[in-house]
Amino acid sequence: SVSEALAASAEGIGLFRTEFLFFGRDEAPTVDEQVAAYRQVFDAFAGKRVIMRTLDAGADKPLAFVTTAGEANPALGVRGDRRPWRRPELLEDQRRAIAVAASSTSAIVQVRAPMIDTPDEAIDFAHRCARLELPSVGVMIETPAAAITAPEIFSVVDFVSLGTNDLAQYTMAADRELGDLALLNDPWQPAVLRMMRLAFSAGAAVDKPVSVCGEAAADPLLAAVLVGLGASSLSVSPRALGHVSSLLSDVTFAECRAAAAEAVGSRTAQAARAAAAVELRS
Ligand code: PEP
Ligand code: MG
Repeated sequence: SVSEALAASAEGIGLFRTEFLFFGRDEAPTVDEQVAAYRQVFDAFAGKRVIMRTLDAGADKPLAFVTTAGEANPALGVRGDRRPWRRPELLEDQRRAIAVAASSTSAIVQVRAPMIDTPDEAIDFAHRCARLELPSVGVMIETPAAAITAPEIFSVVDFVSLGTNDLAQYTMAADRELGDLALLNDPWQPAVLRMMRLAFSAGAAVDKPVSVCGEAAADPLLAAVLVGLGASSLSVSPRALGHVSSLLSDVTFAECRAAAAEAVGSRTAQAARAAAAVELRS
């Protein structure tokens, strides 16, 4: 929550999951309601960065009034930024509300779309945001398709955020909600780390930021590996903030880079973690 984040001395909000405003309702909140809610958050973080994510409904975040019934594989279905295929006004209204709230605040507001798959989807989102004069526009890279085409995606957005929960799920083809698959659905899996590296390299090539969201950054060792891979910022839950910043303040960037190189080159998730721990002396 906003108050927890403030109490934990957060530097800003790295991932504002706007779904929370939509849960438990029969219809979407009106534009005015959304403006009021977003403004409240922006004002609480005056002068700080707030990175909004537009509605990511579907799969693990079902919304009664938009979720398509009867899809056999909702995680591979009409979710996230694919939603406007069914209800275009929903996301248009939301972007408008964010733009209005952002126009009268001292918070530094950035906006990004979830579940982008192709450069064309990124172009479409960027154009729609530009029309509303939203100043800083990005997308989340959460699928292998987006990671592989990151160089093209970067040419149309200001920044990228890795959604490590979904990137692990889709890279490993392992449902993030199935505890049985936790060994596969693990951000330490070298395949997931190498997928992330594609996005970091694409960002570095054009000198644009790649931030990291999702559970991965809440693991202090992995947070250090992500910094070593080139993360410009990490977004973690207020609860994890203390542990992550304490480890990061004890290590050098050179150690993070060495840990990243070892982890990415490992053969198993366990080996990746163990190798990183040695490099980071933990
Ligand atoms: C992610 O997928 O890593 C992410 C940050 O978004 P969510 O967990 O809300 O899908
Ligand atoms: Mg996600």
